[in-house]
Amino acid sequence: MNTLAQEIQAHINSHYPIIYLITQEEDQANLLIDQVLAGDERKKIEWNLGCGFVNYKSVNTINSWCSFTDALENLLLQDLEQHVIIIRDAHVALTEPLAVARLKMLVNKFFANEDAHVTIIMIGAQAYIPHELEKLITLFDLPLPNRDKINDILTKFAHVYEIEIEQEIKQRLNYALQGLSYQEILHLLMQSYQNDGAIDENDIPLIQQQKSQIIKKSGILEMIEVQDKFSDIGGLYTLKPWLEKKAKIIKNFTKAQQFGVEAPKGVLIAGMPGCGKSLTAKATAALFEMPLLKLDIGSIMGKYVGESEANMRKAIKVAEAVSPSVLWVDELEKAFVGIGQGNASSEVATRLFGFFLTWMQEKTSQVFVIATANDISNLPPELMRKGRFDEVFYVDFPALQERHEIFKVHLNKRNKMNHNISINELAEATENYSGADIESIIKEAIEESFIDNQAPLDTRRLRKVIKETHPLGEIMSHKVKEYKKRFEDMKIKSAS
Ligand code: ADP
Repeated sequence: MNTLAQEIQAHINSHYPIIYLITQEEDQANLLIDQVLAGDERKKIEWNLGCGFVNYKSVNTINSWCSFTDALENLLLQDLEQHVIIIRDAHVALTEPLAVARLKMLVNKFFANEDAHVTIIMIGAQAYIPHELEKLITLFDLPLPNRDKINDILTKFAHVYEIEIEQEIKQRLNYALQGLSYQEILHLLMQSYQNDGAIDENDIPLIQQQKSQIIKKSGILEMIEVQDKFSDIGGLYTLKPWLEKKAKIIKNFTKAQQFGVEAPKGVLIAGMPGCGKSLTAKATAALFEMPLLKLDIGSIMGKYVGESEANMRKAIKVAEAVSPSVLWVDELEKAFVGIGQGNASSEVATRLFGFFLTWMQEKTSQVFVIATANDISNLPPELMRKGRFDEVFYVDFPALQERHEIFKVHLNKRNKMNHNISINELAEATENYSGADIESIIKEAIEESFIDNQAPLDTRRLRKVIKETHPLGEIMSHKVKEYKKRFEDMKIKSAS
């Protein structure tokens, strides 16, 4: 029996009243329930949306009420003592307030009877937990297939279709399929097989592409294909070595762990826009040689109770299945604004925040979180406390030497470096300019050179564009001062 099944069984033995399994894969839930209930002599009944009450695992209808509310009314009239009640489509069943009230009454009835041992097992694609039931429900999230499981699936698939999958291809396939559900994996394998009756190297790019699509369709996560290199980051002289140190641990994690090193949790990078926060997130994934998943925090926020947490849980589940991975939480401040203000949306934010903090604190998986934020003044201070992120950095507008490097990076990238360009002069002329400003100056100057009969790029032309560009630091001067003071007050480490 696997550890999840053991854990659930322990809960059942300790008379926890409602076990809630979150999964989109009913087959997997059934297998798990069979494992958990093997040897359990109690009578098992089931409710599902289509048929109402039936005997578990048989088509014998007990009662053909389809409404969960009516079914509960009937259950309340019976003397149930030794029963397991399995409820499918739980997230739909619990949307009715009357059903929630009756379910609570039912559980209280079991509690009142010392001889009763009744367990309710709910299966839902999402966690939909009304407030009234929170204390009665224990959630178990069915994980996505891990490396070993995917290996099993591949072996079985090859066996059933009588094909040979080379060991090396198997490993690459395994990597490409992580983060998908059992059904999604089977579907992709089937598709690949049907193309040419084989599963080989040619199928891997298609599988990777389809996987990105599947992940994106969830609307919360996106797999980012990283083009940036770590050496593309100019400046940030404190942040870069810090990340390089983490890379040494992450790339030798097994050894590091044996030595007593804990898995790095992640970093929060806050500060001025256009100064390399997103670039650092992307380039770090390249440095760590890990896939990068970007979490869209705006789309996480749901209207219904528990919806935001369910979305966050889903995202984390994928990131953990793809791990080791980098999870980039962009615009972190958007998720947690208004915490503690006491209105409905702040309640959602507060719960989501609690969930995120607990995950960060207890996280043992190799998911390295890079959270980026422009403004952290509205973020709750608990987030900054040690134990959540390994470190919090503040990114300011680049200083002279940093601007020097940024010019160099972007000119070299475009093969435009030549002896007619004085980088010192350009760096001097761009105080208060962000890295993004510098990049756009170079782009514009190149464009103008081209129009001007493809003349070689020189300092004069670049200086002209600099003069015509209003630096972000100037446009936002008011905000910049305010931010700077806040970061100083909060004693956050400078990234430079
Ligand atoms: P932020 O996330 O801080 O708002 P970005 O990282 O998206 O800013 O910056 C936008 C672009 O500006 C980057 O893709 C990069 O081309 C350029 N840039 C910004 N900062 C730097 C830097 N420190 N070094 C090199 N390029 C930079």
